[in-house]
Amino acid sequence: MPALRMVAAAWMLLGLAVPGIWAGQQPPVPPQATPASSIAEQEIERRLAEMVQYLTSEQLEGRGVGTKGLDLAAEYIGQQFAQAGLKTKLYQDAPFQKFVLSRGAKLGTENRLRLVGPPAKPGGRPQVLELRLGEDYTPMSLSGTGEFDLPLVFAGYSISAPEANYDDYADLNVRDKAVLVLRHEPQQANPQSPFAGLQYSEHAQFSRKVANARQRGAKAVLICSDWFDLEKATTEARKKWYELQGQLAQLQEEFKKKASPTAEERQAHQQQVQALQRQLAELQPKLQPEYDPLMPFETGPPPVQKDEIPVLYCRRAVVEPMVELALGKDLATIEAEIDKTLKPQSRPLEGWRLIGRVDIQRQSVEVKNVVGLIEAQGPLARQHIILGAHYDHLGYGGLGSLQPFRRVVHPGADDNASGVAVMVEAARLLAARKDKFKRSVLCIAFTAEERGLVGSRHYIQNPLWPLDQCIAMINLDMVGRLQNDRLTIMGVGTAKQFEPLLDRLAGPYGLVLRKVGAAAGPSDHTPFYLRRLPVLHFFTGIHGDYHRPTDTADKLNIAGMRRIAQLVADVVEALATAAEVPEYVASAGGMGLPLIGGGNRPFLGTVPDFGRQADGYAIAGVVPGSPAEKAGLQPGDLIVQFNDQPIKSLADIEAALRKHKPGEKVRLRARRGSELLEMEVTLAPRN
Ligand SMILES: [Zn+2]
Repeated sequence: MPALRMVAAAWMLLGLAVPGIWAGQQPPVPPQATPASSIAEQEIERRLAEMVQYLTSEQLEGRGVGTKGLDLAAEYIGQQFAQAGLKTKLYQDAPFQKFVLSRGAKLGTENRLRLVGPPAKPGGRPQVLELRLGEDYTPMSLSGTGEFDLPLVFAGYSISAPEANYDDYADLNVRDKAVLVLRHEPQQANPQSPFAGLQYSEHAQFSRKVANARQRGAKAVLICSDWFDLEKATTEARKKWYELQGQLAQLQEEFKKKASPTAEERQAHQQQVQALQRQLAELQPKLQPEYDPLMPFETGPPPVQKDEIPVLYCRRAVVEPMVELALGKDLATIEAEIDKTLKPQSRPLEGWRLIGRVDIQRQSVEVKNVVGLIEAQGPLARQHIILGAHYDHLGYGGLGSLQPFRRVVHPGADDNASGVAVMVEAARLLAARKDKFKRSVLCIAFTAEERGLVGSRHYIQNPLWPLDQCIAMINLDMVGRLQNDRLTIMGVGTAKQFEPLLDRLAGPYGLVLRKVGAAAGPSDHTPFYLRRLPVLHFFTGIHGDYHRPTDTADKLNIAGMRRIAQLVADVVEALATAAEVPEYVASAGGMGLPLIGGGNRPFLGTVPDFGRQADGYAIAGVVPGSPAEKAGLQPGDLIVQFNDQPIKSLADIEAALRKHKPGEKVRLRARRGSELLEMEVTLAPRN
């Protein structure tokens, strides 16, 4: 589970009640001995203890992404699944759903780019324009790598939109050529435009433009800013500039009225003036129409496909003279004509070539989900319950650790060796009972949860069995610290049958349930919940060792884990044998407790993406039926502005929300890939 303050803030952001367990951190107390009443139970406890010992051992290096220890853990869990009687020959005779996790990219040292054109005078030397990396141009994060020397063709916006009867590639041959392309789309100021009116249509997406060019045989893409966007940015900067000037004048005015200001007042005034002057200075360069910042390489999405063609972004001023020379009119005129006629103006830039090389060093690592199957027989055998738990943790610390500066193994006993061990034991109990089952059970140990639910999101996009056959997902994340028999279960409100079922089954194990209706939270059940599946998350609570090297196996309540494993097995068995499937309930509401610290915070309905480090508030998903979903926010979006306030983090948006009431309309700006979306959101009351 991602870092504590993030979790707390995330829960609050989702307008969810934070169960009392949050109230205070639980001091580690020795596990209560609810003695195993049978040999079988003692056996379960012995195996649970053995598993957490191994998973938290030094050799497994804190099960960090990119460590050998993580692979050892995967092998071990696969063996445990097989020994527990699960089918594991699911992916090329193994239980491993492998995929590559990009671990970022950086520019290599071999990047170069030039534009070469026909001689200015007959018999003269070709015109050569050497472009400066990071000043005139930059490769884009979704670019492929490679060398190129290609004739250049102007291809408008690289848009083919049959629904708008518009095609920049009509009668244009770009095979084995490079294309110069404008950002965004035509008619951006026209509310009636077939390109989503004043919003950006999907045609404006970089990945879409690149795919369009590639599909027509282009071998490189050079993108430059469009006039409309630059103009808009300048206008906004100017508006802001005047506002700030107004504020400054007013400030000076008011201060002048003070007869004898105190030293403190003088100093406060000075600071306010300087703050405004700083903002004005920052705005200064943006007032110029030619202000055309290059977008940073790092921020964009990775390439959509392995052998992507080179994709570069350059400032408009760099290509403007070439276009004018080759086409006899400047870009702004061309854009204006396209806006007016909605007729493309694509043409070869006779005699011009794009020559260069893109050098990007991508770091990636192979990771794997571990999957085991308890297969039922009969007509409903393809319907299934997913029982999951993440097996990765923080490795040697750093990102996500609450002691980030100590490079030391983080054993992650409770987070989440406990969940893995409980899952394996529940699976063993279930495998022994499968003859009664109508539906099957898929057990999944997810990888890279600490990197932002990466493993579960990958599974959702690449399910072993169709997700519409999945009737429920049960997630075990931090179930090792049962105290006073109190077990928290979240998502109880996501299906009508869950609460009575849990109440009926928990009794025999002496578990006192804290039931939370809402589901969305920073763990692997969320991607399933966002696909409108009923989910449950079992959780024994937060504690002082969370995400610290002190989260060790000796603090686990093994007997508690055994009781939870037995309850989980009973719940899954009930679902696998029930006549009816659980009835999904959309926005799970407030079975929670009053919000700690009170305050009436409106509901937005976004799920934070903890794995993504970016300048803004990155979201992993939106709650079905929430204001965020209605406004069109999508998983992967990066919120960068809330009304006039820039948003740099989860905390920023939480603070911004605090200033508003349910029912109020606010404007959000979000980055999707690299285009900027603007939307209006009507905030809702918390459930
Ligand atoms: Zn966790």
